[in-house]
Amino acid sequence: MTHDLQGRRALVTGGGSGIGLACVHELAGRGAHVVVADVSEEAASAAVAAVTARGGSATADVSAPAGVAHNGAERNGAERSGAERNGAERSGAAGASGSAEAWVVDLADTAALDTLALDVDILVNNAGVQRVSPIEAFDPEAFRLIQRLMLEAPFLLIRAALPGMYERGWGRIINLSSVHGLRASPFKSAYVAAKHGLEGLSKVTALEGGAHGVTSNCVNPGYVRTPLVERQVADQARVHGIPESEVVERVMLTESAVKRLVEPAEVASLVGWLASDRAGMATGASYTMDGGWSAR
Ligand code: NAD
Repeated sequence: MTHDLQGRRALVTGGGSGIGLACVHELAGRGAHVVVADVSEEAASAAVAAVTARGGSATADVSAPAGVAHNGAERNGAERSGAERNGAERSGAAGASGSAEAWVVDLADTAALDTLALDVDILVNNAGVQRVSPIEAFDPEAFRLIQRLMLEAPFLLIRAALPGMYERGWGRIINLSSVHGLRASPFKSAYVAAKHGLEGLSKVTALEGGAHGVTSNCVNPGYVRTPLVERQVADQARVHGIPESEVVERVMLTESAVKRLVEPAEVASLVGWLASDRAGMATGASYTMDGGWSAR
């Protein structure tokens, strides 16, 4: 694998599982130092350990500020991030082909996000959750939480990351949207609303960042084989009135021409390309990887 991201610092939110985890491996494998920010300490630490296992050495250093615990990795001579300077909890690993560190943070607690994206060259806004329910039964607090996690947190992280990117004249904002950022499905009101908002935010970021060497794009997968999808099978069966064993075929793959779930590594390879120097003219766009779903 090429080391074209050597010297770059990447932040992957929700990097402990599924697509985010695949992105951590893709970016670290290409030489970037990857900050894994996840609400699950176990998942974030496991992601760092997996990068370490590919040839890095681990360090640990623990001291915690309010709201953010940092559990990460030394990188190839990297500067300390803003949050580290503020004394966050950290431990980590550095590998010959990139490195990773973990931050334990609830991204829905937007007060904790101020310093997380400082000094970041590549920001992957990926953390997300799903709720499946008809609108009339949708818990308003769950709706608000999804907007905070999947729209407000990306805004705050982009806002924090841009000044440094502008100063360095280079930056990559990659927003994990969805086919549901471009079209709707019933029973996913909060998710569809947040993803549509993210599409708009991404385009505005592209327009403002273009003259400063900063690109901003959305990646729009169809159903990907991750824990997020596994967790919604029972709810999908209930709202559609079908057996759980038929959800993948009758709900998730009906629009797909390829008739299989997307693999996380396939999405991560697109993220890796968008993060590269070769993608400097790719901005303000939405890249579907949905087995043909959106071609209909
Ligand atoms: P996943 O559930 O496998 O992983 C999500 C990660 O986000 C987990 O590690 C989780 O701990 C973390 N997370 C959740 N809430 C958090 C919070 N409040 N603060 C910090 N971290 C938090 O999910 P996934 O399927 O890999 O999805 C990743 C992204 O891709 C999401 O934005 C999702 O909407 C999008 N997406 C997924 C699919 C799919 O089919 N899986 C399709 C299109 C888009």
